[in-house]
Amino acid sequence: MRLRRFGPTSFDVSVIGQGTWPVPDREALRRGIDLGLTHIDTAEMYGDGRSEEVVAEAIAPYPRASLFLVSKVLPSNATRSGVPRACERSLRRLRTEYLDCYLLHWRGDVPLDETIEALERLVDEGKIRSFGVSNLDPWDLREAAEAAKRHPIACNQVLYNLGERTPERHELPWAHGCESAFVAYTPLARPANRRGEDVLGELAARHGVTKEAVALAFLIRDPLTFAIPKANTIAHVEANAAAGDLELDESEISAIDAAYPVRDRVGALPMN
Ligand code: NAP
Repeated sequence: MRLRRFGPTSFDVSVIGQGTWPVPDREALRRGIDLGLTHIDTAEMYGDGRSEEVVAEAIAPYPRASLFLVSKVLPSNATRSGVPRACERSLRRLRTEYLDCYLLHWRGDVPLDETIEALERLVDEGKIRSFGVSNLDPWDLREAAEAAKRHPIACNQVLYNLGERTPERHELPWAHGCESAFVAYTPLARPANRRGEDVLGELAARHGVTKEAVALAFLIRDPLTFAIPKANTIAHVEANAAAGDLELDESEISAIDAAYPVRDRVGALPMN
């Protein structure tokens, strides 16, 4: 499993992680960790905290330092006093002393500068080692970056897959501008596309992996990018782990690019 520096942090993190929504399967998570999928994405929202509890059960046998644990605060909790309270609840459910990264799940009504200030305080207190955002477009990202005075924004986590490549034209360039990590959620979705299926199938056969692994390898071809597929099925976990060691060459990337072209964005950054 390849590791990659997580944006401006000093942490090397598995390029393929594990999502935890809907509520994950403990054994599947453990299989993933054993295969190097040590980057685990959860949120207070998932199952009203139940996902975090299952993650706690799954990670119990592993050294905490071997994991990169990410959770998210709901926008409705993202106030000056709400952020630390939500973080404490997540830490309690996850049975851990700290989060490696803590994200604002999406932008709500609370001013971004208030949320960012609260997240920076949590870094200072050692409750979280870094913070980031999710579902922010470049306008919101600029505002968030201006609000971050003492610690950089570690990542933006967005919907990014073969059917939704518009972040390559909007949020990914922003990530390059400030070297933050770019995390793809719902990475396995793709539109029905006969030609695309043929391309993925041919590359999968060539490399002895699944089409999904090829799709993931394509998404993480950029050096700032990570993907967090969710899998409850052990065979799926194993297939996803294979993507962490798969590097596509230029002609393979071009073939996928042609089959699943980037389209112009109509409207706002999409969310699941
Ligand atoms: P996803 O990971 O793209 O797809 C999950 C689905 O794909 C499941 O049905 C899973 O089935 C199946 N699957 C997994 N690996 C597979 C493989 N190798 N071959 C075939 N099928 C496979 O979508 P997602 O769950 O929406 O997104 C992943 C994670 O991103 C979430 O769990 C969550 O942590 C995060 N997320 C974040 C946001 C946000 O707003 N920040 C929004 C949505 C999601 P099985 O379970 O049966 O294996």
